[in-house]
Amino acid sequence: MSKPANAAEIERIAVLGSTGSVGTSTLDVLRMHPQKYCVEVLTSNTRIDVLREQIGEFKPRFAVVSDPESASILAQEFAQDSSVTILSGARALEEVVALPQVDTVMAAIVGAAGLASALCAVEHGKKVLIANKEPLVMTGRLFMQTAERTGAIILPIDSEHNAVFQCLPADQSMRDVSRVHLTASGGPFRGKSWNTLKDVTPEQACAHPNWTMGRKISVDSATMMNKGLELIEASALFDLPARQLDVLIHPQSIIHSLVEYIDGSFLAQLGAPDMRIPIAHALAWPDRVASGADTLNLAEIARLDFTAPDLDNIPCLALALSAAEQGGAVPIVLNAANEVAVEAFLQKQIGFTQIPQIIEDTIDTFLAANSASAPENLAGVLNIDNDARLRAAARLSSRP
Ligand code: NAD
Ligand code: MG
Repeated sequence: MSKPANAAEIERIAVLGSTGSVGTSTLDVLRMHPQKYCVEVLTSNTRIDVLREQIGEFKPRFAVVSDPESASILAQEFAQDSSVTILSGARALEEVVALPQVDTVMAAIVGAAGLASALCAVEHGKKVLIANKEPLVMTGRLFMQTAERTGAIILPIDSEHNAVFQCLPADQSMRDVSRVHLTASGGPFRGKSWNTLKDVTPEQACAHPNWTMGRKISVDSATMMNKGLELIEASALFDLPARQLDVLIHPQSIIHSLVEYIDGSFLAQLGAPDMRIPIAHALAWPDRVASGADTLNLAEIARLDFTAPDLDNIPCLALALSAAEQGGAVPIVLNAANEVAVEAFLQKQIGFTQIPQIIEDTIDTFLAANSASAPENLAGVLNIDNDARLRAAARLSSRP
């Protein structure tokens, strides 16, 4: 029989990006375990329709709306409700993750917009469930070194990294690991020649065969930049050089990644392609809780396929692997240029196959004017990010 709920034992969670794909999956898992978890903070950029409902259901103490116009609409609505405080402004996300009553932070904002709050949670020694991959790509080892200093616990949510984490020894030692193999579905255009993708629309690019995700990561999956960012993310998270990481195309998305040991053993984590599984794993770690995901019927799946990626036909992955090998400033520039190019594609300002051209040109002009060495601190990271965004935007407006 389970113990009666005791307020002191309930883990208090801040869900950053609660209106997004990972955010709503997180709330799905939390909803199943009210005796273990309560929601202290919810946040959104603009989607106040969804946030309003979430506030009604989960009754957080704080809600942050980053977009000022949306924030003032919601603040007016909740003006008479003293149980929830609506915040906005540049520092509000950092303020809420630093609250003493927040035990655990789910970092599920998309893009570099999530960097400051995720890093702030690490600075405050929280348990940080990191879905937002861009901060790890941008800050590299700085993120993990900060966690080592503050005692923050970092638990990966990205399904590949969560799989690797689950396949590592309990002390997370990499001592006997020889390689890590990140699996990739290949996205909606797997098997197609890159040259035939010129007229792809945002809707086609966002129609992923196995996963339901936000639009930015869906486009990244279609170009396979997502897997490149994930390789850089894995290198930062597990302190593994790029040469010990590789990408394996596995269309069924059943094996979420593999760890190869020096004795020739491969350990893999399998599961339905459902983000509630890594979310439940990280929430309960080192215990386990139900996630609500379907079980796997391997007899029905019957076969699992694997192929090596053809880098000549996947330019974004090739650019990211090269950035991973170069390290230093290059992954930051790659990430910033990619965010600018993907947004331009989603706004129908550029075609799908122009995305890698914008990124490559941005990296080239950056390296022609700057050193590729790694920045020493967050200010240095943000400077490079800003410089690369300006270069990518200039490249967009000067394009033929
Ligand atoms: P999404 O677009 O569905 O949701 C993004 C969330 O971030 C929303 O709540 C939005 O309101 C918020 N947000 C967006 N811009 C913001 C800003 N400028 N300031 C504050 N908040 C802002 O994205 P998603 O698919 O849930 O992905 C979130 C992160 O998790 C991404 O970094 C993605 O790479 C990573 N991730 C997602 C999945 C997935 O299955 N969706 C899997 C692995 C990793
Ligand atoms: Mg992933």
